[in-house]
Amino acid sequence: MKIPFAWTVHKFGGTSVANAERYQKVVKIIENEPGVRKGIVVSAMSGVTNTLIKLVELAKSRDESYFIELELIKEKHLKTIDELILKDAESLKLSIQRDFEEIKEILRGVWLIKEYSERTVELVSGFGEVWSAQFLDALLRSQGFSSSWLDARKVLVVTPRANAVSVDWQLSKERTDRWIAVHKTDYVIITGFVASTPDGVATTLKRNGSDFSGSIFGSLLNASQITIWTDVDGVLSADPRLVPDAVVLDELSYAEATELAYFGAKVVHPDTMTPAVEKNIPIFIRNTLNPLALGTKIHAGSSKKYTIKGFSTVDQVALINIEGTGMMGVPGVANKVFGALKEVGVSVIMISQASSEHSICFAVPETEGLKAKEVLTKTFFAELYEKLIEKVEVNLGCSILAAVGDSMIEHPGIAGQLFSALGQASVNVKAIAQGSSERNISVVVSNSDCKKALRAAHTSFFISQQTISIGIIGSGLIGGELIKQIKEQKDLLKTEKNINLVIRGITNSKKMILSEQSVNLDQWKNELTNSEKELDLTSFAHHIKGEYFPYSVIIDCTSNQHVSHVF
Ligand code: ASP
Ligand code: MG
Repeated sequence: MKIPFAWTVHKFGGTSVANAERYQKVVKIIENEPGVRKGIVVSAMSGVTNTLIKLVELAKSRDESYFIELELIKEKHLKTIDELILKDAESLKLSIQRDFEEIKEILRGVWLIKEYSERTVELVSGFGEVWSAQFLDALLRSQGFSSSWLDARKVLVVTPRANAVSVDWQLSKERTDRWIAVHKTDYVIITGFVASTPDGVATTLKRNGSDFSGSIFGSLLNASQITIWTDVDGVLSADPRLVPDAVVLDELSYAEATELAYFGAKVVHPDTMTPAVEKNIPIFIRNTLNPLALGTKIHAGSSKKYTIKGFSTVDQVALINIEGTGMMGVPGVANKVFGALKEVGVSVIMISQASSEHSICFAVPETEGLKAKEVLTKTFFAELYEKLIEKVEVNLGCSILAAVGDSMIEHPGIAGQLFSALGQASVNVKAIAQGSSERNISVVVSNSDCKKALRAAHTSFFISQQTISIGIIGSGLIGGELIKQIKEQKDLLKTEKNINLVIRGITNSKKMILSEQSVNLDQWKNELTNSEKELDLTSFAHHIKGEYFPYSVIIDCTSNQHVSHVF
């Protein structure tokens, strides 16, 4: 239930405001979403932040192309104003032209002294959001909505740190409340990404910081929910480029989202969520281009629909193994290992130690693999010499596959299911680690096995266990009729019997067609006639067996004895 007049916050990323047409779509979304008072956090139009940062660099190296680049983004913005058909187009254009004059002056300074400071980039790179917020605000007002825009630099105070910022919550809250008390519009369009330092200088929340802005303003406005509008339908169970059957997850807990993001899934960045998590505000991930899709809800609870919520992978990992009898029962070995790695700045992605204490095994980024080996060989020089430690081994070319889900805790056998799926796909598991939160099982596999491992694991948990990969040899009268019947019965079998029949290959006496997912059952005759693949029963069988299908069958619909002899 929505509390009347409570704020909701929506954040629109760069692709959601890529051009005039997209701004119009955003207006429709804002209008149709429930709630009265809405804080709308916007990014710069897509690509603009990159260009602004590039301008500073070009000016520093006295590359004259910066004039052209600057003109281009100015034109882009002025053109967008024209296309948006705004009531106060002229005054907005003037104000934007003034901003460009200011940027020109700054760049001129950089050009002259061939140098810039961090602050220069912070100031210049934030303009995109300032323009974007004004566009959306002007568009809403032109269409008769009650709207105002808030330059976040006026209210949000942060102290920049090495790779992040820390928010001055008290001051920011006071300023936001004061601003809101004066601007009583239904919609407040807020610049994402930008903020001010305690001494009042323009700064940013660092690259891709506008999700963080969304979460910060959700907290400052005590919003009942935050929606991050992006260009995907929600958080997926796996990277769809690697797993075409990946499904959109309806719900995730904050903790699950954090684990998935850590292992590289396209979710909100964990730091970004913190302000929302602290106030227990649910975050929705939704698609601007498909606003009817419900998206993914990230909140304190979690859905029970799937035991595993998602799989993600980290590529380019090196596995390091230290082995030797001299480590058993000796305190401080692990400390010495990880202390040495810390000294040389190598970060460890996962650790697993067998309980025999005979070996310690851990994963680091591949680029750090040799460095880690070198420092450990030095650190344990004496132990290696005395054979207390047999070897420090580095295994390059590995990947980590992580399975994430809160409900693993109550479900025994999840690890078993995972390993049997990997086993069936003949994936060799090199190391295993399970976080003590029992929310994540990670396995290290060889890089070349990673995609296969991911698909096998995903199929096992997300696709009906009874998925059957089917190959049909011979597509004459009998084969053709069989394909027709399968096509007709397929959906019924799936919904009523939980059996998923997937025809992945068909042959005639000369040619064959193969498909990763499923042969197109409406077009197969044409495709087979036009196929350039010569019939080859061995590779056909190999394809049908697949690497990640739990079951496969080949149906011989020919009257030819030869076929049965091949197998
Ligand atoms: N426009 C900024 C960037 O591209 C902030 C954001 O879009 O999140 O980094
Ligand atoms: Mg962005």
